[in-house]
Amino acid sequence: MNEDLNLLWIKGLPFKLSYLAWRIWNGKVPVASLMHSWNPTISQDCMCCSIPVEETIEHLFLKSEVAFRIWDHYSRVDGLLGPMINLKQTVRRWWSSNSSYRIQVVFQVVPIVILWCLWKRRNTILHGGSFSERKVSWEINDIILKAIKTRFKRDIGRNSWPDIITDLQGHRNNCSINIVRWIPPPTNWVKCNTDGTSRGNPGPSSAAFCIRDSSGSLMVAKGFKIQDTSNLVAEARAIREGFFFVRSIIYHMSLLKLILWSLYKSWKGGGMSLGV
Ligand SMILES: [Zn+2]
Repeated sequence: MNEDLNLLWIKGLPFKLSYLAWRIWNGKVPVASLMHSWNPTISQDCMCCSIPVEETIEHLFLKSEVAFRIWDHYSRVDGLLGPMINLKQTVRRWWSSNSSYRIQVVFQVVPIVILWCLWKRRNTILHGGSFSERKVSWEINDIILKAIKTRFKRDIGRNSWPDIITDLQGHRNNCSINIVRWIPPPTNWVKCNTDGTSRGNPGPSSAAFCIRDSSGSLMVAKGFKIQDTSNLVAEARAIREGFFFVRSIIYHMSLLKLILWSLYKSWKGGGMSLGV
């Protein structure tokens, strides 16, 4: 339940839309049947259908002629088709879609926008105005397009749900993912990775390197500030420092090996030599 309520609040969507959805979710919208229960002189008939029936939340927002056609139109996407048993179950199907991130965000937005536009139509008609089904659809698309623009800085520009979906799916297909992973060096080798950067390029700069063995264990990591320079020089400086550090390790390890070897030889032979 709490998870549902969290999904009602969406970045990039006007607050009033989420607030209405929250009220619907909690049964706090003054539909005709609720008004009638408070004051029996008020009609409980809906104004959305050609043959009026009792206006409940489920009727107004899901089962009325217009609401049903709207939900049906927007649900004609893979993974969303299915029986519309009740309002919460229908909305949850949108929210549980297992698709790309952008589509998931849009699917979180769409039910809230549908509810808002159905409510707006209902109130316009109640006050003597007209609000065609086509206009409901246009307004829903318009709000979705604005949300996509705010959230993803993408201007699809075509007021059509199939076009919006095609664009989002195309965007997904055009994405390429490059997996960046570190590959360890062979056994008995070490690998030195370096990085250098300049803030401002040229500007204050720093360089860093780290050395890891074949198991991926970190042996050394070092970072330092350098004089103001460009990115390229900072990168080169990091490589140079890394190289000298590795060379010094090899030198010291070679020297250690030589000392140990000399000690071993002197122990075996009775003499001692440290000549290189
Ligand atoms: Zn109706």
